[in-house]
Amino acid sequence: MSDKKWVYLFNEVEEAEKYAGSWDGVRGLMGGKGANLAEMTRIDVPVPPFFTITTEACNAYLANGNKFPEDMWEQSLDALKAVEKATDKKFGDPKNPLLVSCRSGAKMSMPGMMDTVLNIGLNDETAEGMVKITENERFVYDAYRRLIAMFGSVVLGINDENFEEVLDEVKKEKGVTADTDLEASDLKDLVAKFKEVVKREKGFDFPQDPIEQMRLATEAVFSSWNVKRAVDYRKAANIPDDLGTAVNICTMVFGNAGWESGTGVAFTRNPSTGEKELFGEYLLNAQGEDVVAGIRNTEPIVKMNEVLPEAYKQFVDITQKLENHYKEMQDVEFTIENKRLWMLQTRNGKRTAKAAVKIAVDMANEDFITKEEAVSRVSPEQVDTLLHPQFLADTLAKAKKDGKQFATGVNASPGAAVGQIYFDADTAERMANEEGQDVIMVRPFTKPDDVHGMLAAQGILTSEGGATSHAAVVARQFGVPCVVGASMVRIDQEKRQLEANGVIVKEGEWVSLDGGTGEAFVGKIDMTAPSLEEQTDLMTLLTWADDICAQEGIRDVPEGWPTTGLQVWANADYPKDAQRARTYGAKGIGLCRTEHMFFEQERLPVVQRMILAETSEERVEALNELLPHQRSDFEGLFEAMDGYPVIIRLIDPPLHEFLPSEETLLEEVITMRVKGEKKGLAEKEALLESVRSMHESNPMMGLRGIRLSIVMPEIVEMQVRAIFEAAANMKLKGIDAKPEVMIPLTGHVNELNHVQPRLVKIAKAVMEEKKVDFEYKFGTMIEIPRAALTAGDIAGVAEFFSFGTNDLTQMTFGYSRDDAERNFLVTYVEEEILPKNPFQSVDTSGVGRLMDMSVKEGRAVRNDLEVGICGEHGGDPASIEFCHTIGQNYVSCSPFRVPVARLAAAHAALKYSALK
Ligand code: PEP
Ligand code: MG
Repeated sequence: MSDKKWVYLFNEVEEAEKYAGSWDGVRGLMGGKGANLAEMTRIDVPVPPFFTITTEACNAYLANGNKFPEDMWEQSLDALKAVEKATDKKFGDPKNPLLVSCRSGAKMSMPGMMDTVLNIGLNDETAEGMVKITENERFVYDAYRRLIAMFGSVVLGINDENFEEVLDEVKKEKGVTADTDLEASDLKDLVAKFKEVVKREKGFDFPQDPIEQMRLATEAVFSSWNVKRAVDYRKAANIPDDLGTAVNICTMVFGNAGWESGTGVAFTRNPSTGEKELFGEYLLNAQGEDVVAGIRNTEPIVKMNEVLPEAYKQFVDITQKLENHYKEMQDVEFTIENKRLWMLQTRNGKRTAKAAVKIAVDMANEDFITKEEAVSRVSPEQVDTLLHPQFLADTLAKAKKDGKQFATGVNASPGAAVGQIYFDADTAERMANEEGQDVIMVRPFTKPDDVHGMLAAQGILTSEGGATSHAAVVARQFGVPCVVGASMVRIDQEKRQLEANGVIVKEGEWVSLDGGTGEAFVGKIDMTAPSLEEQTDLMTLLTWADDICAQEGIRDVPEGWPTTGLQVWANADYPKDAQRARTYGAKGIGLCRTEHMFFEQERLPVVQRMILAETSEERVEALNELLPHQRSDFEGLFEAMDGYPVIIRLIDPPLHEFLPSEETLLEEVITMRVKGEKKGLAEKEALLESVRSMHESNPMMGLRGIRLSIVMPEIVEMQVRAIFEAAANMKLKGIDAKPEVMIPLTGHVNELNHVQPRLVKIAKAVMEEKKVDFEYKFGTMIEIPRAALTAGDIAGVAEFFSFGTNDLTQMTFGYSRDDAERNFLVTYVEEEILPKNPFQSVDTSGVGRLMDMSVKEGRAVRNDLEVGICGEHGGDPASIEFCHTIGQNYVSCSPFRVPVARLAAAHAALKYSALK
């Protein structure tokens, strides 16, 4: 005998807590469902007696080659006795039979991914016994046929279509459409037919021994931990594979015991909008799966007040009690058996990103939770979803006017999606992943087997099911726009097309879906980014996030370093980007790539003339033409960012990027020669010659950045003049311009020593000319490993560092940033050679180590050195956390990612808070 405890009874939550050490531990041990059932029992919420076989038992079973660990089954049988005692019923006893369900339940909820079997304990004898007790033959045989079908598919692996076919035949024979129209004799007939299906498909009879049923069901639930759909789901939801599932053996209560019975699911707040209102649906005379599968049309939960008022009132009180207890929006399942209410499950409800924000903000405003908790309850990914595209109002209106709308359904998960339609998950996944198509998956309803297709899709459309159907729940969780229950849609799997309101859409054709309104259109509708300003709850939450970061002392850092959290700045090249960045909450510009301004149509010829100039005078002449353009660009930036720092980077890319490519020129020259065109030929030939002379085998490592400033100083001299003239002009207009000049691609301090003092001289000269004075900084990017390795030397000259992690990653790994992702990085990540794509998320142990070292060595020389990041990583939540830990002042990212970064910065500040 082992003294290991594998099984916990409904009233043993304290023992579980003692063993597991914390509530999180209890959830890990008993699974979320088991833990919450036990907790509900503890706080006197009516829960049918049950016991839980632990996740440890599941892991031992799977590790043992699918064998129960020693003593587990004996403990389960003992627990069953205790449940018999509590219910005053006996398992397998025809005179007073106990029936149980066998339900999976992992630590993290994985809706519908693993298996459940209801009505275990029914066999020919107990069924007859129950008929005598209940005097309701219809109900008993309804339960029995459900057991055989569920057991057959879940435990015995029989394709459930075998049972569905038989059910359809029986309904057809009777001329009815709803299951509830079948009479007792029909259901009895169905039981016999279902038994035949088992015999035909498996070669043995449906097991009559209740203990055998329970044992096989338990094994099936354990094994369902490793079925493909569960594994796929865990991968997508970042759930570890080694948690295992618990098994809950619960006393059955019957929602299908008559018209004073029913079953339903509800959320304590609206999971789509976050409104504070009970939201859910129920069905009279039905078992749980009828609601979740969307097979019968449900009623909204408030209507229950009309038919079962007492149970409804009790239900409202309990849901409130549960929300108060957990201080979180709850998603509950309940059953009413002959007017008596039983709670079968509670868990923190999944919700849309919009609802997550509203609920968090409301709960903090209700003083239910703190602002810090509210901020931590919303994930950066959810904020990202809220910035997802919406349809452009006028093109949407036009689509409606032109009669493009072909269906309307339930608005299950918000956001607009445009894609080509496919009617099964495999094709949808293949078209998305292999063909790179934007895909909309269209199904009658979805099952857990469809999740891979749903994850690959831009949007989901189903013709059946409601707001809590599988499609709706999964889509909301992953932020995929989704419309469900569009009942006018008829899918013809043979013809691979759908028909709705007379419109036919074939597989592969384009549709547009609005998951926020539930509308579906043929063709493509233009989309736009949503406006953050209109999302007041999100704005409030992000202000709280900023307040968290702004707290002095929240960061534990060496003397003199910033003790607040990170600020979020933006990468913006044009005044309109800067304005957007500011509305999105940026507190500065961390990178303005000035060369982008050179590419504008009217400027490019002047830039090219400047590059091709043979003398310094010619070059300066062209640059003088460019100067007013640059100055006015910079004025716009300073104006938009009034009072905030603006980092302007001097020209970085190799000059050939501003000239036509050698191939194009060669082709043009040859064509002209062949056609004998003389006009302009000499100029083209000269240009080709210049382009050839500038050719570099490895331009990313060639003449660019600070090297260009040394070889061809006139360009950066013009740029610095433009920056300071712009700042001075703005200053004179009363705008608080804070220019910071950034020199790219430094590798050796001597480069900076050569360039920086000359530029500072220009800055001072301009200020003198304009007779204004303002603060400014000169600093550099750290994007070459040598710069990081000699950061102390460099900080002797540079007043700030900004990590150019795009180049720093490229040069640290030796991976070309333009080619690596296409050529091998995808394979590297798939094969787990690298944990993540290092161009998306900072490689903390390599590139990150260089960054960490740079901050320390830089600040050792210059204690108030300002440090930020402006590579793509500046908007990645994991990288932001890393930047926080190494003591940076700010992260800078594209304006659209600023809100996400603000939340991520607050999460990092809270996670490592020195104020706790
Ligand atoms: C970088 O290298 O990270 C950077 C921001 O500069 P760019 O991408 O312009 O090279
Ligand atoms: Mg760079």
